[in-house]
Amino acid sequence: MKKRGHYCKICGEYKSNEKFSGKGHAAHICKTCASLPPEEKSEMAAMNRLLNLP
Ligand SMILES: [Zn+2]
Repeated sequence: MKKRGHYCKICGEYKSNEKFSGKGHAAHICKTCASLPPEEKSEMAAMNRLLNLP
């Protein structure tokens, strides 16, 4: 698969560009995750950071 869209650092998934708002694009946060409460977002982001450690 060549076209995998844009990476969301919160849910850790690649989603199509229309799943991101203008700001979310730069912040790497999809619209779904952008609507989550802040503490849930930071928790998920922390989790993804751990999973992505080398
Ligand atoms: Zn997301």
